[in-house]
Amino acid sequence: MEMFDLLAHRARVSSDRPALEDLESGEHYNYAQFNERAARLAAAARDHWGLEEGDRLAYLGHSRAEFFAMLFGCAKAGLILVPLNWRLAVPELEVLVEDCDPGALIFGAEFADAAAELQQRCGPLTLVALDGAADGQRDYHRDLADTRPDLTAHPDRDPDTPWYLLYTSGTTGRPKGVIQTFRMMLANYLNIGLAVNLSGDDVLLNVLPLFHTAGINLYSSAVFMVGGSVLVARAFDPDQALQVLEKRATIFFGVPAVYQALLDHPGFSGERLKGVRSWGCGGAPLSLPVAQRYVDAGIRVRTGMGMTETGPTVFLLDEDKVIDKIGSVGRPQLLTEVRIVDRDGRDVPPGDAGELLIRGPNITPGYWNRPDATAEAIRADGWLHSGDVARCDEDGQYFIVDRWKDMYISGGENVYPAEVEKVLEQHPAIAEVAVVGMPDDKWGEVGKAYYGVHADRDAPDPEALRAFCRERLAGYKVPKAFERVDALPRNALGKVTKQELRDHAKQ
Ligand code: ATP
Ligand code: MG
Repeated sequence: MEMFDLLAHRARVSSDRPALEDLESGEHYNYAQFNERAARLAAAARDHWGLEEGDRLAYLGHSRAEFFAMLFGCAKAGLILVPLNWRLAVPELEVLVEDCDPGALIFGAEFADAAAELQQRCGPLTLVALDGAADGQRDYHRDLADTRPDLTAHPDRDPDTPWYLLYTSGTTGRPKGVIQTFRMMLANYLNIGLAVNLSGDDVLLNVLPLFHTAGINLYSSAVFMVGGSVLVARAFDPDQALQVLEKRATIFFGVPAVYQALLDHPGFSGERLKGVRSWGCGGAPLSLPVAQRYVDAGIRVRTGMGMTETGPTVFLLDEDKVIDKIGSVGRPQLLTEVRIVDRDGRDVPPGDAGELLIRGPNITPGYWNRPDATAEAIRADGWLHSGDVARCDEDGQYFIVDRWKDMYISGGENVYPAEVEKVLEQHPAIAEVAVVGMPDDKWGEVGKAYYGVHADRDAPDPEALRAFCRERLAGYKVPKAFERVDALPRNALGKVTKQELRDHAKQ
């Protein structure tokens, strides 16, 4: 499949179109130059870093345009790129490095110490410095310059070979390396690119970390498919994001924490952002008050749902449904099949909640080194068990209810914390809230709510919050305990790490 070498193809059909720009350094490439960078990386990995087809190449650094040269260079060379979560501490990184066993690690200057430590703990590992090499290290730019790149396509690659590994957010346990392939990227492009109507004139601002599927595929890889351009921010900075969205971007994707931060910025206004034609959000539920404030500002944020295991796009809400179906993740996209089943695997009647199963060419072949976890998640008939509870309404629009693992049982009744959180989020003083189940002698389990309060509001007392819930929820769903926190514990994508709260609630 020649498309596997997407850049060689793009360099032929749109060579002088702008492809990529690094907002921090100002470096920018058209498609011919982007293809050349990737080809140089492929050659340097072989000639200077000793990597052979099938080897892993790890990256530890902030988001940079150069990352995409690494990604597509790995496609050319048949290498497997492993972007590491730079928010992890060295012992956590060590677990991932031992798991994927890379031959070389490219690192940004900000992680020089961590890289050296990883080399010591996990060796043998070739260190490749992006920002100037120390003794005993390779110099990324010097090595890329010192190659003779092959700019032609590599048509012989199988689109199902592992191309990059993404460790899951680890929201619910030890991170697993999800194998990503060109087929998944292609399927994601068909799923999201057609739904958003991406074109070669589109300019994407990417503010998400590139060790996550959203940063790579929403919508960067899909934009490269059509020959549009991607502006890469080193990290999310609301000030910079608002300026770029105002002046240059035509499309945008963010996680809920990003949408919240843009809204909280004094420079936010619908008028200022009217040049952006499409807004996407996913990764975690977008709270209803936030979604509503965007609608009030004349911005229709289309919520979608996806997973690292699904490339990621599964669902997306149509733009004309954003107001009527607020809170929904929309319908399954072009190449995905979905089912909702009960605990015995039987399809539930329409309207009922059950586990979401997903099937299609966007599904991962499995987890790296984890045949057990792979077999548990993807059954012989090809259905991926998402671990999420969903329901479908009478119009065929889907809602993510919660994760199975977050549900708890109080007095024999199932409680989905997300439902309780949605109620509490509507309290005017509450800025953020997370509910977890905790053991209880009488009821088996009861809810405990952790909440943060808006800076300009007085903190409500637990009795007032309990009364607020009681008016809106069945008694067994009302949390028994409430605890105010300065900030909820969150992972790199801004998702609340509920396991931490469950452990805390148990004490
Ligand atoms: P881990 O698998 O390591 O526990 P994770 O599931 O958070 O981490 P991701 O693949 O990044 O890792 O996230 C996918 C999950 O995010 C989905 O299974 C779902 O639970 C949640 N999710 C994604 N989009 C939405 C959404 N729009 N609304 C609610 N939940 C969402
Ligand atoms: Mg998951």
